[in-house]
Formats: sequence, structure tokens, C-alpha cells
Amino acid sequence: MIPVQGYAGRKVAVLGLGRSGLATARALKAGGAEPLLWDDSPEARAKAEAEGFACTDLMKQGAFDGVACLITSPGIPHLYPQPNKVIARALDLGVPVDNDIGLFFQSLGAADWAKFDTAPRVICVTGSNGKSTTTALIHHILQVAGRPTQMAGNIGRGVLDIDPPQDGEVIVLELSSYQTDLARALTPDVAVFTNLSPDHLDRHNGMGGYFAAKRRLFAEGGPDRCIVGVDETEGRFLANQMAQGPEDDRVIRVSSGTKLEGFGWSVFARKGFLAEWRRGKQMASIDLREISGLPGAHNHQNACAAYAACRALGLAPKLIEQALQSFGGLPHRSQLVGERNGVRFVNDSKATNVDSAAKALQAFPKIRWIAGGMGKDGGITALEPFLGSVVKAYLIGHSARDFALQIGSTPHEICETMARAVARAAEEAEPGDVVLLAPAAASFDQYPNFEKRGEDFTAQVQALLS
Ligand code: ADP
Repeated sequence: MIPVQGYAGRKVAVLGLGRSGLATARALKAGGAEPLLWDDSPEARAKAEAEGFACTDLMKQGAFDGVACLITSPGIPHLYPQPNKVIARALDLGVPVDNDIGLFFQSLGAADWAKFDTAPRVICVTGSNGKSTTTALIHHILQVAGRPTQMAGNIGRGVLDIDPPQDGEVIVLELSSYQTDLARALTPDVAVFTNLSPDHLDRHNGMGGYFAAKRRLFAEGGPDRCIVGVDETEGRFLANQMAQGPEDDRVIRVSSGTKLEGFGWSVFARKGFLAEWRRGKQMASIDLREISGLPGAHNHQNACAAYAACRALGLAPKLIEQALQSFGGLPHRSQLVGERNGVRFVNDSKATNVDSAAKALQAFPKIRWIAGGMGKDGGITALEPFLGSVVKAYLIGHSARDFALQIGSTPHEICETMARAVARAAEEAEPGDVVLLAPAAASFDQYPNFEKRGEDFTAQVQALLS
């Protein structure tokens, strides 16, 4: 745990008692603060009280008396569509609002760092898609390289839950736009921006607010190195703002698809090959095509971003290449879960929207596509340009019939359940086909979450192959 510095002997209110809220309360207590907790859910409060914490209704008259700061959870709106009522009260009273990420950066660094040979460093990863994969990949490369490293944030543990860093340790954090929008301190050594596509627009009042929230990681933090995906205008703008000129190598530009040879430092993937260029010279080239944990151009973008972050720390290209080979991928993101007679079964249950499903459909040449669930606004007509690789769709869940209408002439079958979809797709698959779960829909009609949906797919595949 990282004990929170700066609030000893003072009251700090904590709103939202999920994983990060409770970790925050513990870290505040360890730093000598007096946490006052609240969550609208009685179960969440009971859990906190069982740990010995006091819960106080923060809407009660006088609840904010003597409170130094309000810490909130990422799921609670702080600005748009409108602030949660407790946050609105703090704004009215002028009580500073912060989150666990702000506390983390405020508290990191202890007296014993002075004895270290190499100061610990923090890499933060943000962007619309690929954050988890890129974060996990950087962590994996560092582990293979034998560097002490911990991963936290939106993935794994809450940031205040990590162990105090050791000599030379690298902390890798995945940060969502909700987190970067609010944190009062944001000082990564290396900041990574993967890409940008519309998401969570209600929480940021549109695309401008969404991009601004992510940009804070760079603008506020002054990282030593910025790794920026430049495949969208926003990324090109961000890279431009962070660099003195095209030759400034504090910015490493990353692309999946575009050659970027004219910059101070760049890493890009084209036709399955990663290339690193620095000051007009090619430094390295890596064949990504056979790395089973990183299929498709979208994962090659993640590989480039992770490679760049590790190069920024001084790791050698050869070492990074070896580590890429052994990356198993994250569960539910383009995860290979089985293979029989030349047919591969891939779980991309995390492809809950059209954008991520489009990437998955471009990652394989011949696809038996399992899709459906709780469709999102706008349907899946935007997937039309990517259906060329689909031999047949096997549709499940609430939106199966709507999806059937929206995919036009693509062969399809309504299967209703995962079990039937996997069985039918496996029955009809030919060598070279990929049976791909990329639902382009939420899971809530049939499962509690996308993880359970992916686990069901995996279980059906394993039963079939056993
Ligand atoms: P995040 O943490 O940003 O949600 P994940 O790594 O969990 O990202 O991937 C989420 C979904 O997006 C998965 O379906 C995955 O296959 C897809 N994806 C992963 N990387 C990218 C990328 N660079 N661009 C677009 N989609 C991606």
C-alpha cells in the first residue's frame, strides 16, 4: 500500500466504496488521515463498516465540516451529464475534489528513495482502445527483462494498493478518461496515448471534452517522454503540442499503417512489421505476424506503443522482441482459446462496441463470427465495410434478429445461445477459418458482464475440443 501523504490528522471524505474507494480509505488511514466514507449502496457500506471504517451520509447537514478534500470513484459523474449530488455539494462549499490517482502522485516518493541507485518510474497509459493490452504488454516486457514492476489503475489493483516501489521499479498504470479528468496531480515519467474514438461522450459533454480529459495526462504532467498514437487528428495534434519540432525526440510517434520516418523518434507497424526510426535512421525491425498473443493491426498498434515505452526506458530492441513473442494476450481480447484441424477459436468478448468489433474483423482473413447480445444505439450497420472476411455469422442474444437485418447479404444463422453458436460454427468451419467471438454488443441480456460471456465461450470451445 502507498500511505497517503499530506492529510495526517485531517478528515477526508471518500465517495464510492468499490475496489478503488476501499483501497483509498485504507491508504488514507495508513497516512494518518481520518476517512469519512459514503456509498449509496447499503451492501458497500456494510463491507466498509466490517473493516472498521465509519460511514457518514455526506449529504447530511454539516457533513463537510472540517473536511479537507473529497475523493470520488471513476464511475461517479463529477461534471457531465451533471455532477453527483455529493460532488455538487463539495463544489458549492469549495472543498477540493480529487481521486485516488491524484492522491497516488501526491504520495509517491519516500525518504528511502534517496538510497536507491535508480529512482522508480511511472508509465501511464490512456486512450480509447487498447489501454489494457498495452499496459499488460509493457508490464510483461519489463518482467521478462527482469525489472521490478507492478501494474495497477484500471487494470488489476487500485493504484494506492500497490507495494511501495523498490530500487529501479517501474509502475505501469492504465488510466481512463474519468480518472485523468479529475486527478489533481498527474506526473508520469512516460505517458502513452494509444488512440481516440468516440466513447463515454455523455460524461465528457462530447468529443472535445473527452479528448481534453485524456490530454491532461500530458499537459499537466510534463512527462519526460510522450508516446503518442498519431493515427487520428487528435493524436497528431497532441504530438505536435508536446514537441518543439519534428526532430524533438521527447515525443515518440506511433502508427499502425503509416510510415513515420521523418521524425526525431517513431515506431510504426506496416504489413505486420514493426519499425523503429530515430533521427532519420532505422534502429530495429520486428516481424509481428506470427505472434499469436497480438493478432491484427490494432494489436500491432499496441505492440508499437509498448515497444516505444520500453525503449524510452532504455531496454534493447532484441530483448523487447523476445518478450513480445511470449505475450499470451489478455483474456477476452483477441485471445486464442483453442485450435483443432486448422480452425482457431478466438475470444474477443471485450469487443462490446462497433469500433472494437471492426478491429477484430480485420484481424483474420476467414471468420465464422459469433455476434450479438444487447446491441447498442446505432446498431451495427457501420460494420458493413468489414464484413468481407466473414464467411458466416452466428447470432446470439437479444439483438440477434436486428443484427441479421443489419448485415444484409452476409450468410447468417440465428443461434440464440453461445452453446449453439459455438457448436454450429465448429461444425461448419474449414481449415484456416477462425471462429471469432466479437459480439459488437453488451452482454447484459445473457450474462452479468463481458468476462462471463467470454468464459462461457471458452468453456464451450474446451468442451468441444476435449
Ligand atoms: P481498453 O482497456 O482501452 O478497453 P483493451 O486492451 O481492453 O482496451 O481492448 C478493448 C477492445 O478493443 C478489445 O475488443 C480489443 O480487441 C480491442 N482493441 C485492443 N487494442 C485496440 C486498438 N489499439 N485499437 C482498437 N481496438 C483495440
